[in-house]
Amino acid sequence: MTDTTTPRAERVTHFLVRDVALPGDLGTLALVTLDNGLDHTKPTTLGPQGIAELQSVVERLHERATAGEIVAVGVTGKPYFLAAGADLTQVASVTSRDDALSLGRGGHAAYRALSEVGVPTFAYINGVALGGGLEIALNCDYRTVASDAGAIALPETGLGLVPGWGGAYLVPRLLGVQKALDVILTRPAQNKPFKAAEAYEIGLADAIFDAADFLEESIRWTAAILRGEIVVERRPLDDEATWKAVTDAARQRLDATVHGSRPAPYRALDLVTAARDSDRTTAFAAEDEALADLIMTDEMRASVYAFQLVSHGKKPAGAPDASLARPVTRVGIVGAGLMAAQIALLFAQRLQVPVVMRDIDQERVDKGLGFVQSQLARLVSTGRMSKDTAARITAQVHGTTDVQDFASCDFVIEAVTEVLGLKKKVFAELEGIVSPETILATNTSALSITEMAADLQHPERVVGIHFFNPVAAMPLVEVIHAEKTSDEALATAFAVTKKLRKTSVLVKDRPGFVVNRLLVLVMGKIVEAVENGTPVDVADHATDPLGFPMPTFELFDLVGPAVGLHVLQSLREDLGDRFPVSPGLEKLVADGTRVVLDAPAKGLPKPVNPEIQAVFDGDGTTRTDEALDAAGVLDATLTALTSEIGLMLDEGVVAGPQQIDLCMILGAGWPFHLGGITPYLDRTGYSERVLGKRFLPDGVANVPRG
Ligand code: NAD
Repeated sequence: MTDTTTPRAERVTHFLVRDVALPGDLGTLALVTLDNGLDHTKPTTLGPQGIAELQSVVERLHERATAGEIVAVGVTGKPYFLAAGADLTQVASVTSRDDALSLGRGGHAAYRALSEVGVPTFAYINGVALGGGLEIALNCDYRTVASDAGAIALPETGLGLVPGWGGAYLVPRLLGVQKALDVILTRPAQNKPFKAAEAYEIGLADAIFDAADFLEESIRWTAAILRGEIVVERRPLDDEATWKAVTDAARQRLDATVHGSRPAPYRALDLVTAARDSDRTTAFAAEDEALADLIMTDEMRASVYAFQLVSHGKKPAGAPDASLARPVTRVGIVGAGLMAAQIALLFAQRLQVPVVMRDIDQERVDKGLGFVQSQLARLVSTGRMSKDTAARITAQVHGTTDVQDFASCDFVIEAVTEVLGLKKKVFAELEGIVSPETILATNTSALSITEMAADLQHPERVVGIHFFNPVAAMPLVEVIHAEKTSDEALATAFAVTKKLRKTSVLVKDRPGFVVNRLLVLVMGKIVEAVENGTPVDVADHATDPLGFPMPTFELFDLVGPAVGLHVLQSLREDLGDRFPVSPGLEKLVADGTRVVLDAPAKGLPKPVNPEIQAVFDGDGTTRTDEALDAAGVLDATLTALTSEIGLMLDEGVVAGPQQIDLCMILGAGWPFHLGGITPYLDRTGYSERVLGKRFLPDGVANVPRG
């Protein structure tokens, strides 16, 4: 796993200059290419040495521009990248505010020098342009983008920072304040970068060209601009009233969703608010100050820790040698219900092998197949999949009621109803049909896989692969190691989930695995507080200061109150009374009462249904007159979480706290600025108070205390 304690040396990006003769004898374009000299698996990033190099390259270009040797400057990148932004490992290893301030100022100085080089400047966005990578383009006079350029975004506010190399000032002036807030606040919160066409549409780029001859076309376009044949009209600044209305509304939205849990989005909004009436020098200085403050926050350090955890390409901790994986050439799915149909689609899409889905009657099979077809049709109609690909996938997915159709499958995953006896029966039946090498996987959320496999002739072939709903969107898979699971079965599960493009975490077969155990504990603590007299509304918002994706009762509504209650009860049975009983919740489920109302507007939290208070009040069986205020509920929740994570690590549920964090970030959407959860429990003192020790060493995911 990533070790952020020992920062690696800067992977220096160079700025290579070559002269290009512009068509029509217009003169020379100095083409600057950002290149770190490494292949495309090592993204170009910007650290202090690279920025210093840019500064000196630009100084030389300025001299040449003054001498009339060049008439324009173009900036582009090595294949696939303009630049993936500031080198976060370097940023997160800064130990003083002064150094943090220098980082901001250094970038600004170099970018500003580029924008004032003395001739028109052009950025040719040939690939990924994130954060400081996009800002180098924003500091140029004009931008073109290649139609296949990867992610284009200012993700800083999601990483505890602000777009502080000019982005917060330049974007609202370029695009208008409304679109700028989408770029700076909304997209980072959704972790949704722009595609090239979108970037062009909103005005981040002035022209878009086919990838095949992108550079040639961009240079031709440059010449047309220089000759005055093409004129790019810039929009006038939004008027004062619009600016104020839009930024005020954004602030209200932040208060309703972020609840002041982290400073970065607010600092970014402050900068955008001020951008209309500031001059460049004042605005850039304000960006420097914001960056310096934010770089020295624990939220930023935890965000970088989280970002590095979720970045792809690492071998999952504890996974056996990948060479042990068995080939998977035909997949069986037992069940055709909610999860099974989604799993079938994903396997057919990514593994590109035949998939056979079996349920107990034709009607259910048809429903599952219907789901697969409707999803494919949706992908085609929204332009995300070609008709040919959809046809190929459709041809790969078969439905059946005959269990014998699994005979030639080398991998079968069951997603039947969550009943242990049923799952045992399914596996026993399968064992009589498939070859002794076939891997048997289960998508159970809460049952013991060890027990499920106990009576089989080959229990070692059984492995858990716990997908989350919705399967296509949720990036996490918990790969479960039951008592007898073999390395071959585990390696196959990891190989398969990698092909499915999921992030897998190896988890021991303990109740609730990781995500459900901790999520349901939080839900349980909130409900327990209500049972003990805390008003529903107070308890529901008690975790607001953490910036979770949604309040607790909305989460109950999302997972389904009956499912939530069932898991709470089964975890209580397996793990003890740390998981509370809730007669109020039982009644709500029995009556089918909705626990939340509709959200007042898209993107805002769903308020609790006020009627449910009476259900809890009316009960009285567990009331102990220990009503807590919001801070008390939060404290009880964090204390419980700390001790539960301590137990999980003692039980060896996962290899270490990093895996807990990875699971909570990707499986439950817990925020980056908490670092998942263990960095937060460390920095707020809960781990030392409850367990007598930290989860992670000081400085790994926080500003070092020393
Ligand atoms: P579901 O009720 O939608 O589907 C279950 C299907 O299994 C039904 O279509 C049923 O007819 C079928 N079935 C029952 N016995 C069968 C048999 N002998 N052979 C073939 N099919 C049989 O349930 P679901 O929500 O898809 O859950 C399936 C599994 O996935 C459960 O173990 C559940 O815990 C797990 N899971 C569910 C979620 C979720 O959010 N729903 C998330 C993760 C894991």
